[in-house]
Amino acid sequence: MNRSSEHTALDFTATLPAADFIARFRDPERIAAYCRACPNYGRSWACPPFGFDMDDYLAGYRTALIIATKITPSNPGLPFREAGRLFRPERVRHESRLLDMERRYGGRAFAYAGTCLYCPEGCCTRPAEAPCRHPEWVRPSLEACGFDLCRTSEELFGIPLLWSCDGRIPEYLMLVSGFFHNAGTIEWEE
Ligand code: SF4
Repeated sequence: MNRSSEHTALDFTATLPAADFIARFRDPERIAAYCRACPNYGRSWACPPFGFDMDDYLAGYRTALIIATKITPSNPGLPFREAGRLFRPERVRHESRLLDMERRYGGRAFAYAGTCLYCPEGCCTRPAEAPCRHPEWVRPSLEACGFDLCRTSEELFGIPLLWSCDGRIPEYLMLVSGFFHNAGTIEWEE
């Protein structure tokens, strides 16, 4: 568990065959429609549309390690605009660990959807059609690859995603990322 004065973060993991994860939780047409409705669509190199074939991108891995972090704010009822600030340290922790696993084991990391961590907000080079400044760090999210994370969180971890309906952060937030690999057993926390 990670704890700060502002939140606690509890990690859950699930390991399953990558082919099973794709068959059970990938719904690319429906999820792509959600992505097209997002203001980041086509405006960040971390977001769709991508210039590669997604089926090829996901192929060739035996195992999917899925990581879900439940983030519970210390102060209930915070305005929803504070959510990014609560997510950020956990996103940094996930992405740093995922990139480290890519270096150590090969495989493919999937980060969390949302604004990219690596440039100031609103400064992505994509709207100007210039190359990404940090392709060595940026990885698409599972959602961006067509996975349904509502069902993933409920069915693999028994934790439903919650939404804000009154402009406030719900009881908890969920961060879901993943790692496809061929490396045998990998522990998330070492
Ligand atoms: S690193 Fe910068 S340029 Fe690359 S996707 Fe992120 S915001 Fe865009």
